[in-house]
Amino acid sequence: MITIRKPDDFHVHARNSYLLTRVWPHTAKVFGRALVMPNTDPLILNSEDAKRYYHQIVTVDDSCEPLMTLYLTNNTTPNMIGEAFRAGVIAGKVYPVGVTTGSDKGVRNFNAMKPVFEAMEELGMVICFHGELPGVNVIEAEKAFLDILHGIATEHPQTKIVLEHVTTADAVDFVIDHHNVAATITAHHLVMTVDDWAGRPHNFCKPVAKFERDRARLLEAAGGGHKFFLGSDSAPHPTSHKEAPVCAAGCYTAPVLLPLLTQIFMDEFGTEVALEQFASVRGAEWYGLPLNEGEVTLVEDPWEVPNCYDGIVPFMAGETINWKVES
Ligand SMILES: [Zn+2]
Repeated sequence: MITIRKPDDFHVHARNSYLLTRVWPHTAKVFGRALVMPNTDPLILNSEDAKRYYHQIVTVDDSCEPLMTLYLTNNTTPNMIGEAFRAGVIAGKVYPVGVTTGSDKGVRNFNAMKPVFEAMEELGMVICFHGELPGVNVIEAEKAFLDILHGIATEHPQTKIVLEHVTTADAVDFVIDHHNVAATITAHHLVMTVDDWAGRPHNFCKPVAKFERDRARLLEAAGGGHKFFLGSDSAPHPTSHKEAPVCAAGCYTAPVLLPLLTQIFMDEFGTEVALEQFASVRGAEWYGLPLNEGEVTLVEDPWEVPNCYDGIVPFMAGETINWKVES
């Protein structure tokens, strides 16, 4: 049995409409706070959208605090940033155009974002990046984006930046080398490599899982205490969108997230200390939030992950996880 401080998930797709009611309770049951991504349909583009979405989420389940983000585009203005900040939005998300689900309205011109980034820098808002360069193949797209991010990070040295869901050893090195850049790491990128998603639509996500040396480096970073923290990128899609000729990107990890992480960390490090730092401490510190009150206890009690939760296939479906959250 282990007990850790109540964790936060700093990258989750809570969706909206009927999916929200199905997926949000899985996150809300375990996590104190969750940074909800703005690439919903419709997108969260301004403070009014964010307020509406916040209420939609807490109406489903208010036991977890949704932390709101804005979807940044080349039409976002410093004024919109100010309004969002006053409405409680804590971060803006940059999707380079065309790289993943809901990114077709994303940022085309990074230089033109300068006034927006400056406004965020001034207000202390975090800029989150989906770090893949459009037009580059899935294996090299993350590495190729690091040049752009280097320019932004050095031009805005006081801005807190998060490189989301890092998948490569190169990105880990980049984060360590830039004082104002942190990174989220997902649970699925700690266990998968290319062979786990090729031909397996439910394991396919963006950025794709890379090679064993990358996976090993991510695990080292997650356990190592240096600006790396949990952002699950749990991204549910209806089965018909996953088992399709063109498969939607995203792994639905919310129903298995903390048990899976516990298994990974206990197997690798043999103690819950690293897990607690990764899932409950470092993210809150980077965002300047108080640590959660309360605790979560997990027990070693193997269970088989169901093949389906409300019509959505979860990550690890049909496989055994050795830990579960004590109810
Ligand atoms: Zn995501």
